[in-house]
Amino acid sequence: MHTCCAPCSIYCIDLLRSEEIEPTLFWYNPNIHPYIEYKTRRDCLKDYAKMININLILKEEYGLDDFCRNVSKDIENRCINYCYPKRLGETVRYAVEHGYDAFTTTLLVSPYQKHDQLKEVCEQLAKMSGIEFLYRDFRVGFRKGQDKARELGLYLQKYCGCIFSEEERYKKQIKQDLKNVSL
Ligand code: SF4
Repeated sequence: MHTCCAPCSIYCIDLLRSEEIEPTLFWYNPNIHPYIEYKTRRDCLKDYAKMININLILKEEYGLDDFCRNVSKDIENRCINYCYPKRLGETVRYAVEHGYDAFTTTLLVSPYQKHDQLKEVCEQLAKMSGIEFLYRDFRVGFRKGQDKARELGLYLQKYCGCIFSEEERYKKQIKQDLKNVSL
């Protein structure tokens, strides 16, 4: 299961385990910037994986330059055109190479993601690779997972991952701050 962070993984893991499916977590997120944020999310997931005794594979790649180069021509559509295929493509490649029978992603838990397009990307990858896409609409458990993350004291990020999403998250505040400075 491609895993973007510990808080998002909570409900997905709990649900799959309740179905007697034991997922292996696969960390591959070169879309998370800046580096301190990347490290914080990764280390939080490492701690959580240890806590709940689940297998975690770390595929390390910090890719600010590469990411920006690849999305700069169409920043608006960066999630669908680059970010989802990049992360899920690597997940599927790893899964096929190592004999897994299915893949999925914790991104399906977030109501902030482009769920339908993400699902389409996964379906296409399944078709191309011949490996099953284990689809669940994890969004029903998003709040439950976030509440549990808070209770456990896990790190909860404030934006999706890339620097563009960080700007979007703080857009209103940036505008207000700049206005105040120029008064
Ligand atoms: S907003 Fe999130 S999903 Fe979209 S490109 Fe940025 S990090 Fe990737």
